[in-house]
Amino acid sequence: MNILILGGGGREHALAWAVMQNPKCDKLIVAPGNAGIAQIAECAALDVEDGGAVTEFAGENAIDLVIVGPEAPLAAGVADRLREAGVLVFGPSQAAARLEASKSFTKEICDAAKAPTAGYGHFTDAESAKAHVRAQGAPIVVKADGLAAGKGVIIAETVAAAEEAIDDMFGGAFGGAGAEVVIEEFMTGEEASYFVLVDGTDVLPIGTAQDHKRVGDGDTGPNTGGMGAYSPAPVLSDAVAQKALDEIVKPTMAEMARRGTPYQGVLYVGLMIENGQPRLVEYNVRFGDPECQVLMMRLGGQVLDLIHACAEGRLSEAKVTWADDHAMTVVMAAEGYPGSYEKGTVIGGLDALPEDSFTQMFHAGTAEKGGKIVATGGRVLNATARGATLAEAQARAYALVDAVDWPEGFCRRDIGWRAL
Ligand code: ATP
Repeated sequence: MNILILGGGGREHALAWAVMQNPKCDKLIVAPGNAGIAQIAECAALDVEDGGAVTEFAGENAIDLVIVGPEAPLAAGVADRLREAGVLVFGPSQAAARLEASKSFTKEICDAAKAPTAGYGHFTDAESAKAHVRAQGAPIVVKADGLAAGKGVIIAETVAAAEEAIDDMFGGAFGGAGAEVVIEEFMTGEEASYFVLVDGTDVLPIGTAQDHKRVGDGDTGPNTGGMGAYSPAPVLSDAVAQKALDEIVKPTMAEMARRGTPYQGVLYVGLMIENGQPRLVEYNVRFGDPECQVLMMRLGGQVLDLIHACAEGRLSEAKVTWADDHAMTVVMAAEGYPGSYEKGTVIGGLDALPEDSFTQMFHAGTAEKGGKIVATGGRVLNATARGATLAEAQARAYALVDAVDWPEGFCRRDIGWRAL
């Protein structure tokens, strides 16, 4: 099979690494890729949000399957263009990608499917939004309706802070994403992510994970794209996971199909769990980054068979082979992230890393320059490891971190603290 993966982060490096291990993969191209991906696959410069360009590229390169990594191409309808051209694709249609692209859409689907989630109101003007906040009181959560790269959510501790967030959003702080605002009840509990494949009809769970959003040890400091993750997530016990499937995932997926917009691809189910009851925080229409890295570490080459079955609508025949293992990834970021940081600093020691089926350094923001690997983004490397216990995976992941020579980089030292 000739495979094209769209994207160029740690998520796509991990996907490429896993897919390559399956003997059914004959050729792998990743667009745009990064310096780490270039060591294992062909990288191609391509505007991944341009459906026409991607479809043309797939035709020219005899691609049998396209795996879409990030949400932006999905929200732009790239999967639709590929399907229209008869190319097999792993990823939802533009209509189904609204589960991530519009928060009010997801809330409305939850209402129709009676899926447990936070109570909410949906507003298109500031005055009625503020009246709602004053009636509800604080803490309360104010969200820009559209895609805002994880920055469009304000947890307001006071009514005044919520009113200020509402003014900012309607004032254009998040561009078009804030033209509509969703205001949610503040949920308490523990957060975890549940990953399932959906082929329009059938649902197949492929693992659980927990992310670390804050930049500092002990979950302090500003929010980031994610500083580390581990899998499985103990809070998502079999019983809680089954509840999430039966009460949230299956009814909402059935509602999507009923509306004529069946969902196909991986669904990231963000849950808040309290007293054994899961409630939906959000859906994402792609793998999380860095959660994907730990899932790929655990699933390995079988992920290509699962993705292929999903894309072909054969999930009812597919089965996950589980090892009784744990995985962890530690994000190495450029000093200053998530604020401003320097680009182009040289990372040493990467050639000598011990990499095998237990440890892998997945690259995110890296490039090759004059024979050296340099940092090109905020989140730069993902030291990822697997072990019989989470403690073993953690020890291996941090050993990998410590083998890297990058004075301008940093990482959290406590990834996994909640579970350990
Ligand atoms: P991201 O893509 O970074 O996860 P997002 O912009 O899609 O973010 P949400 O997932 O809806 O936004 O919210 C971001 C975070 O805010 C959640 O992971 C959760 O920690 C918190 N949060 C969101 N909604 C609620 C809520 N109703 N109650 C409590 N916390 C919430």
